[in-house]
Amino acid sequence: MNPATVPKIIVTPTSPHPSTFFPELKQCKTSRDIKPFHARMIKTGLIHDQLAAAEILRFCALADRDIAYANLIFQQMDTPNCFSWNTIIRAFSEGGNEDESLHALYLFVEMLQSDFVQPNRFTYPSVLKACAQLRGVREGNQIHGMVKKLDLEHDEFVLSNLMRMYVVCGEMNHASLLFDSSVELIKGNVVLWNVMLDGFIRLGNLDSARKLFDEMPQRSVVSWNSMISGYSQNGLFKEAVDLFRDMQTEKIKVNYVTLVSVLPAVSRLGAIELGKWMHLYADRNNIQIDEILGSALVDMYSKCGNVERAIEIFESLPRRNVITWNAIINALAIHGRAEDALDHFRRMESEGVEPNDVTYIGLLTACSHAGLVQTGRLVFDRMINQTGLKPRIEHYGCFVDLLSRAGLLEEAEGIISNMSIQPDDVIFKTLLAGCKMHKNIEMGKRIAERLMEMVPNDSGSYVALSNMYASLGNWDEVSKVRLMMKKMEVRKDPGCSWIEIDGEIHEFFVEDEANAMDKEIRLMLGEMSRELSLLGYTPDTTQVLLNVDEEEKGSGLNYHSEKMAIAYGLIAMSPQTIIRVVKNLRICDDCHASIKLFSRIYNRKIIVRDRKRFHHFENGVCSCMDYW
Ligand code: ZN
Ligand code: ZN
Repeated sequence: MNPATVPKIIVTPTSPHPSTFFPELKQCKTSRDIKPFHARMIKTGLIHDQLAAAEILRFCALADRDIAYANLIFQQMDTPNCFSWNTIIRAFSEGGNEDESLHALYLFVEMLQSDFVQPNRFTYPSVLKACAQLRGVREGNQIHGMVKKLDLEHDEFVLSNLMRMYVVCGEMNHASLLFDSSVELIKGNVVLWNVMLDGFIRLGNLDSARKLFDEMPQRSVVSWNSMISGYSQNGLFKEAVDLFRDMQTEKIKVNYVTLVSVLPAVSRLGAIELGKWMHLYADRNNIQIDEILGSALVDMYSKCGNVERAIEIFESLPRRNVITWNAIINALAIHGRAEDALDHFRRMESEGVEPNDVTYIGLLTACSHAGLVQTGRLVFDRMINQTGLKPRIEHYGCFVDLLSRAGLLEEAEGIISNMSIQPDDVIFKTLLAGCKMHKNIEMGKRIAERLMEMVPNDSGSYVALSNMYASLGNWDEVSKVRLMMKKMEVRKDPGCSWIEIDGEIHEFFVEDEANAMDKEIRLMLGEMSRELSLLGYTPDTTQVLLNVDEEEKGSGLNYHSEKMAIAYGLIAMSPQTIIRVVKNLRICDDCHASIKLFSRIYNRKIIVRDRKRFHHFENGVCSCMDYW
């Protein structure tokens, strides 16, 4: 029945009192259950009882969240009381979308104009929430003014929403002022601290966030989760995982959000033991593995080198959204299983899930790793001409990578010149790598010079150019490039590798070798070098001296971080376990050749994930077949 069509009935004194009517309300679960009561109330005129009507409204608006029906009830009220106004404004402000938030503000203005009610301390939190949702700092400021006049600034619910509004609108100064002026209130109120913490994290100011986190008189699981996800989202993966460990030491109960926040960091560090532990934890604690957590697990297993497990998880999920499909397609792509990735793409479409631009990055990566030029062309063409998706620099990057690897350098260069967006240095570096691989010096030089103009202090172009000359034995040109680098004070990224042993992550930097390197590791590295020379492996010394890698080699010892990590793995891990190392840069020729031999000498499976891909070393060969 549409309440709008029912004529209003005057309240009679014989109407049943709400308390006799409302016990039944408790049994209602949805607004459908409530409709018969509502109808009876209209018939009996009880609807004109402010308190009774407010109860029905509250149920529909907040318990069942049927906002359309709630709004209808509200519009039918003769003179809604303050409680009803607050209920309907709150319902709209909690909708989480802009239209509903805007409606909450309209209602608030109407409320201000009403002769019967005035907003109170329960109205403002909702109104401020709506301002935050709309990023309406001007409106928020006006509300702040009203709050001040009513002396509600230091009401804790108003205050936390006021601060949150400023934080969400990026006005951290306003939030800080409020926080600092509420000395008494902040003492026992972890919510206010969490708002501030969130503010610093949103600004990407992790140092201030951590300082605040350490100063907090008490922390809730929300505080831990925000700090961990702050680290994770800003690329501070080791910090994220370390904090997660502290959380366990302090016996804070890990929840769903914690797992979703820390898993990306675990993936990036390749810390499979920790990842497995989290998976087990979710199973044992009945944490639901939904599409989001499931996608994070698929991503974790694949980035930690276990693509089979990633597939199992994927298949076991009750529901899959576009993120889940992207995770599995990308997993198959980075493990070189292009046909499987394409099969999953077809399955995704047949199950009616709309691919997005990330899906196409996965597909192009798959084609690129497997050298499927024609398929890659079709995928790229389809994305641009049939889906209406706008290609991002990453799509062009993958496609240029595919063409350059296949030696189609002119076609790749053509793509770059006809891009609908400005090409960046990464895409030129991709083409340059192709020039190096296919020994096209002429184009290589042209691209390298262009790169040196674009990013003069970046080592990439110098490295590639120098390596190109080195591969031709043109040592004159190599030393010229080196000199140029010195003049320009080109800095290289510090190389860094991680290895996880017994759930703990150990980090190795190239600088370590001079000062802090463990004696045991140094001895092990010495032994490893001797084993290599026994097998007759001697890196071409001229090449080592003049060839420029992505990272500098240590002056005396010539150890890259991945070698140190492997040495430590050989010492500290039991003989049958696979040694898994993650490296932030591309693995160099010398390390690649040595690790192949180590896998044979020590009869160990060694898996190294470098910036580009996985290398599975076993019995003296690598899964990349020396093509990376
Ligand atoms: Zn190396
Ligand atoms: Zn390899």
